[in-house]
Amino acid sequence: SIQNLLPPVCPSVMKWSEHYPDIGPNCVEFLDIGCGYGGLLISLSTLFADKYILGIEIRIKVMDYVNDRIKSLRLTNANQYLNISVLRTNAMKYLPNYFNKAQLTKLFFLYPDPHFKKSKHKWRIISPSLLAEYAYILQIGGVLYTATDVLEVHEWMKKHITDHSLFTPMTSEELSSDSCIPLLTTSTEEAAKVTRNGGQHYIACFKRIHDPYVK
Ligand code: SAM
Repeated sequence: SIQNLLPPVCPSVMKWSEHYPDIGPNCVEFLDIGCGYGGLLISLSTLFADKYILGIEIRIKVMDYVNDRIKSLRLTNANQYLNISVLRTNAMKYLPNYFNKAQLTKLFFLYPDPHFKKSKHKWRIISPSLLAEYAYILQIGGVLYTATDVLEVHEWMKKHITDHSLFTPMTSEELSSDSCIPLLTTSTEEAAKVTRNGGQHYIACFKRIHDPYVK
């Protein structure tokens, strides 16, 4: 692949037109972190045809697969799937190189790697320090979605996000009117596998709120 792990020095030098033929600068709004084989991207593409949506994936072969999948969808469906793409990077290191403050309106973490051992907890994609970055790139009112089949990981994510001052849990009214919620447990390859194996789906969703310390 021509894509390198080195990120742009800042968001303004990112060449988004290589990902989306018709995009303006820094218009990506939805981000799927650890997108895997891309099922969510493809579902979101037609549901939100006017939004630019990006998957981030660290495994090069998986990214290549998603790229091929999108390419073939574009070939067989004229003028569709132009609003989704995938990028290879480490989401734990480089997000602020790609996205401006408050650029994003939706951030997805679906079935992240559980990293069960205590010594591996530092590799979990939700942590207090990473939440500060996620809050930075999300606009106020933006949504952070999580899903997992691992109860321990669910409790971990829920606790850390709830404890963070810049996020608040979505109300049941907000949840029931949000068209992304049904996709969380159905659209991705991992979600389908969990269902196939008779596993549980746990979801937790939060809104980015105004910083109480900023006037
Ligand atoms: N979200 C997808 C789904 O639901 O089918 C994939 C879930 S899979 C268990 C977790 C994915 O996150 C893997 O594809 C893995 O390569 C990716 N990943 C793990 N750590 C990452 C990181 N730091 N940056 C980007 N992707 C990462």
